[in-house]
Amino acid sequence: MRRLPIFFVIDVSESMAPHLQKVDNGLKTITGELSTDPYALETAFISTVVFAGQARVLHKLTEVYALTIPALPLGGGTDYGRAMDCLMDEIDRNVVKSTRDQKGDWKPIIFFFTDGNPTSDSYKKAFSRWNRDYRGKANIIAFSLGAKIDYSILGQITEQIYLLDNMDSDTVKSFFKWVSASIQTNSVAVGDNQELSDEKMMPDATSIEGLHKIDLRKGPRADLSKGIENDNLKVIIGKCGTVKRRYIILYEKDGSGYRELGTYKIPDEEMYDALTASGSGADFDIDKVTSTGGVCPYCGTNFILNKCSCGKIFCSRDISRELQTKGQAELTCPWCNNTGIYGYGSFRVGTGLG
Ligand SMILES: [Zn+2]
Ligand SMILES: [Zn+2]
Repeated sequence: MRRLPIFFVIDVSESMAPHLQKVDNGLKTITGELSTDPYALETAFISTVVFAGQARVLHKLTEVYALTIPALPLGGGTDYGRAMDCLMDEIDRNVVKSTRDQKGDWKPIIFFFTDGNPTSDSYKKAFSRWNRDYRGKANIIAFSLGAKIDYSILGQITEQIYLLDNMDSDTVKSFFKWVSASIQTNSVAVGDNQELSDEKMMPDATSIEGLHKIDLRKGPRADLSKGIENDNLKVIIGKCGTVKRRYIILYEKDGSGYRELGTYKIPDEEMYDALTASGSGADFDIDKVTSTGGVCPYCGTNFILNKCSCGKIFCSRDISRELQTKGQAELTCPWCNNTGIYGYGSFRVGTGLG
């Protein structure tokens, strides 16, 4: 039987933290929809590759009825190159090529999801590998989730790029249903022994609010390119003083300073380390930060920005009374285990790559 291989390539960099649950649910929507579709059950095989600064195969090509996509992890950095190399290696290992004696699998369809520009230029080499050896034998449809990116970069490997500029739960859900509908359409087509042209691969996008097909021939529009700024988002990694697990604080540029977007758990710390690039973002001044009352996602304290002399950030119990009465408080850093005296102050802090 000829299979229709589908690859989800998903950016799980720290900036995706606010959307991770929605994308997780979206993938569940897809597997739910497909598991009741006789054509998809017959031909579609799905694999998921996740990437941040590094890339990993989350699960191999699996037929729909046996498919459970594991919860998405997070990592640091956004490396399109590692993502594409990981994808191409997986295609080499698991997609059956046609030979003179046997028909191989159908052309793989790759759904590439990202929310940011690459933080490394390793994509250049990987993209030429793709264009040289894979482009004619697979289709990529790329999606920018909730963020304006430089489309000319992904435009080097595909003409099919979409922007989803509304990330509320209902829209994300209908977006993933729409992706699922395209898998169903393509499954029907290969069931009838035909392959769909680029234009027919995806259903009409106008039915989804906030979904726009990007016309690369028009070039990056002025208002879009203005939104492209790698400095827009800052990522701080802290460690909970109580449960000793790491959390993410995201800040978004707001005038001359930064506004807190939210605090998030790191779902799988081992995977986080495996997916994270070495290196870091630029330091920034913590006194330019507007707190919106974020709390530690593990223990609930709002003292999430204690800085140890080891340079790391951690959360602690509420020390406001001690600071008022004594002007200082004694805390132990969960990163280095040193106990020190803490008071109010502003400081510079290192950031992750996002
Ligand atoms: Zn905590
Ligand atoms: Zn420390």
